Amino acid sequence: MNMDIQKADQHFIHTYNRKITFVKGEGMYLIDDTGRKYLDMGAGIAVSALGYSNDEYKQALKDQVDQLIHISNLYFNEPAVKAAGYLCEASGMDRVFFTNSGAEAIEGALKLARKYVRTKTPENKGDIIAMEHSFHGRTMGALSVTGTKHYREPFEPLIGGVSFAKYNDLDSVKALITPDTCAIIMESLQGEGGIHPATEEFMKGVRALCDENGIVLILDEIQCGMGRTGEMFAFQHYGIQPDIITSAKALGCGVPVGAFAAKEEIARALVPGDHGTTYGGNPLATAAVCKVFEIFKKEHIVEHVKELTPYLREKLESLAAKHASMKEVRGIGFMQGIESDIPAGDIVGAAQEKGLILISAGTNIIRIVPPLIAEKEHIDEMCRILDEIFTEKEA
Ligand SMILES: *Cc1c(COP(=O)(O)O)cnc(C)c1O
Repeated sequence: MNMDIQKADQHFIHTYNRKITFVKGEGMYLIDDTGRKYLDMGAGIAVSALGYSNDEYKQALKDQVDQLIHISNLYFNEPAVKAAGYLCEASGMDRVFFTNSGAEAIEGALKLARKYVRTKTPENKGDIIAMEHSFHGRTMGALSVTGTKHYREPFEPLIGGVSFAKYNDLDSVKALITPDTCAIIMESLQGEGGIHPATEEFMKGVRALCDENGIVLILDEIQCGMGRTGEMFAFQHYGIQPDIITSAKALGCGVPVGAFAAKEEIARALVPGDHGTTYGGNPLATAAVCKVFEIFKKEHIVEHVKELTPYLREKLESLAAKHASMKEVRGIGFMQGIESDIPAGDIVGAAQEKGLILISAGTNIIRIVPPLIAEKEHIDEMCRILDEIFTEKEA
């Protein structure tokens, strides 16, 4: 490596163990400061859906920099109006609030759910049911509904009234519902917690429980949304409609932006003064969102994921059949996980040494979340390297 890592790290709060410095991206590849090229099957944690060489996307940002970068939310801006329309159209929601990150979208969604339920039942305590192994972000509210204890416990007390059900276990959800439950929050496909897709029975069952009990269903589509699963949003595989969704990650394809969106009746619960953000939805961020939606449509990105998914699955399944330490392959679309007996960190590290970027999810899941423009040749290259690594590690 070129850069002195010790020196590079001296002024950061040490929350990440980093080794590589990337200086450039080209298509599906990242280039480090020694000029070495890596196949990127992590997309900056499911963000860079369009890869690194989309000229139309880059030009739209350059143009917006010249036009207008920031004005605050005291005024309308044209890209935000257009982006909100695109997001509503794609998700079946009616109204959007733009944020700067995923965690901030979760915060807004939780506030909206509490406020809405109290417009109908003022005495509701605002209790929330979340899922074990969920991940919703690092801010205090988002952390409160995150199902991994070691993320939460050092920072308690968090917001109260949160209980955790077992994902894909409808009875465990039912058992936690009380008259004070205002919201159920979950990912349509759990990412960070180990790539666990919801079963259709569970998704439909939770929707029905919410309807029967006047509970707001919040689906976190921050990682699994924006085409990653072969539908624009992962919930669209299940034939249900949530009350609130959160989006971020690939929403801006690299420009920091998130959003929460809701159906009309619920959205109306927030009125002027209830919520705000200085940057959220600024012209630069929402120009990125607009261009992302336009390119998705023009270049048939979601259809491409749907079309290539069987190929990716087949290749991963045949790898798993060959290597005993690969326990299971699971996921939807371009969001796949390999459960491995070999620690995921070791595999991810070995892959880096061979010029392949992967991400772990927990201790034993290798997470594959490539840019959505990945082609068969990239899947082949990844599988060839994974085959090599598992062969070496199993020897
Ligand atoms: C990444 C992620 C978040 C948090 O998003 P940030 O932008 O990092 O705050 C929330 N929920 C899910 C499902 C995520 O994958």
